[in-house]
Amino acid sequence: MTLEKLELEISQCTNCDLHIDRRNSVFAKGDHTSDIMICGMVPANEENEMGVPFVGRSGKLLDTILDEVGLTGKVYITNLVKCFLAAGEKLDSSCIDACSSFLDRQILITRPKVIITLGGDASYYLTKSNAKSLSDIRGDVFSYDKHTKIIPTYHPSYLLRKGGKSSQEYPTVLEDLRLAKKLIAE
Ligand code: SF4
Repeated sequence: MTLEKLELEISQCTNCDLHIDRRNSVFAKGDHTSDIMICGMVPANEENEMGVPFVGRSGKLLDTILDEVGLTGKVYITNLVKCFLAAGEKLDSSCIDACSSFLDRQILITRPKVIITLGGDASYYLTKSNAKSLSDIRGDVFSYDKHTKIIPTYHPSYLLRKGGKSSQEYPTVLEDLRLAKKLIAE
């Protein structure tokens, strides 16, 4: 299996209801050979239009974060769920169940050393944690397998709701990304 074949399979997938309003499935962007994968939750409308993850306001804040820690252009960025969810709608767990095997296959192909999970859904799925709150596991280091570590952190959309760069959570996200850089250098 290659990334190209996986992306094609996802673009034709009808395994959950999110395919109904899909304009473009949203696979990934960035350097697929990077040791760091960043995994968000689900694409929004802008991503649906362009077929590229993190191109809206959250994406701009993520770009700022990556710039601050010296990772611009040096990460591979994707989402747990590959088709968009309309603003204000809740992500149904059946869609995560239907879609998550694509992410697992993406990880198997790209073999990152560290996955930064943004937000609760991606963090809980990949860490298999039963934590009640993301803040309970944020910044902790989990193992996906012998090769790959996971560091959960806050999603840029959450940071935006809390004040963006001025939020008290913003520096903790920078800290988590710096930890990822440190782990890949070991
Ligand atoms: Fe398939 Fe995932 Fe899209 Fe659902 S969200 S239709 S499982 S690719």
